[in-house]
Amino acid sequence: MPGFELFGDKERKQVNDVLDSGVLMRYGFDGMRNGHWKAKELEQALQKRMQVSHAQLVSSGTAALTVALACAKVGAGDEVILPTFTFVASFEAVLSVGAIPILVDVDDTLTLDPIAVEKAVTSKTKVVMPVHMCGSMADLAALKSICDKHDLILLEDACQAIGGSYEGKPLGSYGDLGCFSFDYVKTITCGEGGAIITNNKEYYKSADQYSDHGHDHIGKDRGAEDHPILGYNYRISELHAAVGLAQIERLDDFIATQKKNYSIMRSALEKIPGISFRRVPEHGVENYSFLSFYLPTEETARKTIKAFSENGVDACFYWFDNNWHYYRKWNHLKDLNGLNSFSKEIKNGLPNYKVSDFSKSDHWVSRNISCLIKLGWTDEEVRNRANIMANVLLNIVDFSDY
Ligand SMILES: *Cc1c(COP(=O)(O)O)cnc(C)c1O
Repeated sequence: MPGFELFGDKERKQVNDVLDSGVLMRYGFDGMRNGHWKAKELEQALQKRMQVSHAQLVSSGTAALTVALACAKVGAGDEVILPTFTFVASFEAVLSVGAIPILVDVDDTLTLDPIAVEKAVTSKTKVVMPVHMCGSMADLAALKSICDKHDLILLEDACQAIGGSYEGKPLGSYGDLGCFSFDYVKTITCGEGGAIITNNKEYYKSADQYSDHGHDHIGKDRGAEDHPILGYNYRISELHAAVGLAQIERLDDFIATQKKNYSIMRSALEKIPGISFRRVPEHGVENYSFLSFYLPTEETARKTIKAFSENGVDACFYWFDNNWHYYRKWNHLKDLNGLNSFSKEIKNGLPNYKVSDFSKSDHWVSRNISCLIKLGWTDEEVRNRANIMANVLLNIVDFSDY
């Protein structure tokens, strides 16, 4: 997945443009910047690649989710439905706007289970937030029909799935709002950065203002601009945007490389009885940043991940035990352990996650292993790796009982 693996002259040239002018700020300083507007150019490139009318860059993927929720006017006591398998950023963003994260089960897609979503809808629900974990997407058509039925906003967390598509649309562009992260491990990187994409002009206007202290961005001089709304600083810098500008040009090459490496690994594992693969919803195309598969049981999954590591197969993840990506270890959320106290809406509204039944999620996640697909591998390296993985599965993990 990581764009930082293939980092070179293009990135250096873009960054040097910014360093040469000395203008690190994305707004203003028109006369000093030698015509360089890296953040604006990256926004245009994103609009084009994602086939949307608006893109707003911000300082991180977490900031993108936060700003997107604010644009959708999500606030105190509103409920946002999101999956048990995600990154902590998803519920951090929800809590930060005063809303309540309502976790629901994932299914064999490793993303939101539409049946669980429908069951979780209440009169307080405002947003459904599928998280396209590890490069593949939720069943977006099913989620959209739930959103249409209950008048909810569909917000795609596409931070890990840039470059994938659904019904021919780039992931992130299917919902009302879509968010990307360009942090250091994502498919394309700015070092730190994120973006919100939308076809909704009002959302875009709000994002543009909210992410820059409420600036209306219509004045000539920043100091003279007005502040129609309260906002914060979620701006990206020109230096970060410059890196992203070089990386987005390479996105389709990165995806093609990932697809090639993924296919080699997948065909080696497909021959092994007892293994099944993560379900990709119909009309969906992954970005191939991970190969995710299921073992017959939790026990065989644990044996496999241990044997992978003992045989030098790195970058494979057993999310069931992961601190940051699965609800089981989110004690800080379960205990609402923040620095300062939360509002009564959150305290009263947060379900008691210590007793919640997420056995459906456990059923899938406890048997899942996801292996990162790197860009820098040679064909030979991928084939060797695939052989080792297949050997481990055939010889070390005993499937005979299953
Ligand atoms: C990385 C990530 C984020 C947050 O992005 P940052 O840029 O690191 O803040 C949010 N959601 C998911 C699914 C992610 O993987």
